[in-house]
Amino acid sequence: MTPTEKLTALHKYHAQENTCKLKQTATQAVYGNGNPKADIVFIGEAPGKNEDIKGIPFVGASGKFLEEMLTSINMKREDIYITNIVKYRPPNNRDPLPEEKIACADWLHAELEFIKPGLIVFLGRHAMNHFFPSEKISETHGKLMSKKLAGIPTNYFLPLYHPAAAIYNRTLREELFSDFKKIPDILKSIQK
Ligand code: URA
Repeated sequence: MTPTEKLTALHKYHAQENTCKLKQTATQAVYGNGNPKADIVFIGEAPGKNEDIKGIPFVGASGKFLEEMLTSINMKREDIYITNIVKYRPPNNRDPLPEEKIACADWLHAELEFIKPGLIVFLGRHAMNHFFPSEKISETHGKLMSKKLAGIPTNYFLPLYHPAAAIYNRTLREELFSDFKKIPDILKSIQK
């Protein structure tokens, strides 16, 4: 089996075992997507309407914006792996509930363990607070965090604003772009 096939098998297993109530309303599970050998993993919140229909994370407006930011640092989606805290779309894009995040936690940790990235980028507070419950995204965004967390294969985390929050907010958009530009140097510094 290739790494991609092994990762797909991991997703199928977790989708089958998953007990999240959102399964009843979502069209399908949205598996993490991208390079199974990526050095960088982006974690978003939960699939939206387009992601639910296509079964691929970040294919709507947030995804387009993310691709624009990746281009600005000479990276492509093929270079990264991207997933969500919750794998099923919450109805009307409401915030995922604590129990929905818990239901998908083993799945998320299994994909991180498979990929073993050097850096995990949190897209928004839901992703960050899963790992760092008491931090505030307005204070931590753009700052590299280093911590040993049980069962997590890297010690390096970069919180960013969620693209959806920044698309139409000029100030957040500029901050997100400038935080994003730190990624290449961070990757170099942690590879040493
Ligand atoms: N927002 C997210 O957090 N995840 C997606 O997959 C799409 C939009």
